Amino acid sequence: MECRVCGELEGKPHYGTVCCASCKAFFRRRFLNNEKKECRNGNRCEISASNRKNCSSCRYKKCLEVGLKTEEIRGKRKCSPLPNITTLAIPTSSKFIDISYEDAMRIADMYLNLEL
Ligand SMILES: [Zn+2]
Ligand SMILES: [Zn+2]
Repeated sequence: MECRVCGELEGKPHYGTVCCASCKAFFRRRFLNNEKKECRNGNRCEISASNRKNCSSCRYKKCLEVGLKTEEIRGKRKCSPLPNITTLAIPTSSKFIDISYEDAMRIADMYLNLEL
């Protein structure tokens, strides 16, 4: 299937339409970072597989025009597989907890040993 943004032939269903891996990654990154770059061509760049990197402003506009959905990005962020243990294992001060750093690390070790 053709990418509906840049026309590359490796398009797959992503974010509610068909696009290539490159446009998918671009759309996600552009949305999450919210970087704004002005178009130097009056927002009239033609986006193709060879020039898609030239203008992120027009590429993002094209993504929205062909139906890539920002709502689909929000729902698909990956969760950390071990959220509790990660939080416990990285306390760098006793600012938020009532135990010392050493105690926190000991508890973290206990949790990690339990998991392994
Ligand atoms: Zn593409
Ligand atoms: Zn442009």
